[in-house]
Amino acid sequence: NVVDAQVADDSELAIEGALRPSSLGEFIGQHKVRGQLQLLLDAARMQQRPADHILLAGPPGLGKTTLAMIVAHESGRTLRLSSGPAIQHAGDLAALLSSLVPGEVLFIDEIHRMARSAEEMLYLAMEDFRIDIMVGKGAGATSIPLDLAPFTLVGATTRSGLLPNPLRDRFGFTAHLEFYDAEELEAVVARSADRLEVFLPPAARAEIARRSRGTPRIANRLLRRVRDYLVVHGRGEEAAVADVSAALDLYDVDAIGLDRLDRAVLEAVVRRFRGGPVGLNTLAVTVGEEAETIESVVEPYLVRIGFMGRTPRGRIATPEAYTHLGVPHAEAALR
Ligand code: ADP
Repeated sequence: NVVDAQVADDSELAIEGALRPSSLGEFIGQHKVRGQLQLLLDAARMQQRPADHILLAGPPGLGKTTLAMIVAHESGRTLRLSSGPAIQHAGDLAALLSSLVPGEVLFIDEIHRMARSAEEMLYLAMEDFRIDIMVGKGAGATSIPLDLAPFTLVGATTRSGLLPNPLRDRFGFTAHLEFYDAEELEAVVARSADRLEVFLPPAARAEIARRSRGTPRIANRLLRRVRDYLVVHGRGEEAAVADVSAALDLYDVDAIGLDRLDRAVLEAVVRRFRGGPVGLNTLAVTVGEEAETIESVVEPYLVRIGFMGRTPRGRIATPEAYTHLGVPHAEAALR
């Protein structure tokens, strides 16, 4: 499971934390979003008010949590972290909101998974810094208004399409994070290698970048596996592309960065469903994975590199996907 694999053990999480850029200047790529955020933060600072609410959308590992931390850091505020799945009742959200100190930045990861009742409470909180708390039940129920400290909400979602419009509309700014290109990923690898004190020649960095699925979190993770390999094989001083390839082959990351689940999905569309179209749920059952994981983790990258297409009738594989899997194109003609 790709999502589980991304939640590594504690020491890995500590390293992930240590590798996080802490200012917009250090944040690599996403030039447009960075410029937009900078303006938003500057304006708030000059007017001495909390920044507008910000929605960050995009696949996992592209820097949403990092940007939330940067927003807090750059505006000199503290950050409170929560997540959609942790907010199962309006009461959970009321407790969180009423404990905020003035100007605090509240980060809600996976905000699309928050309970409906909490969503409605959040509308009012975002707009007027106020909530209504229901006390009692039935005919005797009354609502007590409660003023909140002004705050900045930073919401993150892998599925912005799932957010109800009233919620989406209450964010002053929505940033769509894009996959990183090779040059940006090389910069991520170079920066992290420096911090982890791993010596890598440019060609070796490029090889890691090529296999990182456009995703900084994966680039950092692959770098750590390469570091392990170099340590075990005593290759500290002369790390070469061959070492990188050997290390990453061991972890089932192929030459263009597809992992086992990416390939399982492609294989299913190409071999089992003869190139598609196949519905998302059927595909999910076939590869034994959650539909949401396929939709938010696997599919965006396969679509981005032109291996998979979405049609009203389902997912299809492109000729490039056939070539990558080494399956003759003739089969594509059958669909
Ligand atoms: P998300 O919240 O979108 O899943 P994170 O913000 O947790 O992603 O980022 C995952 C890792 O990738 C972090 O440890 C961070 O070090 C690294 N990272 C993400 N974006 C960048 C970037 N633009 N520059 C450098 N490192 C980055």
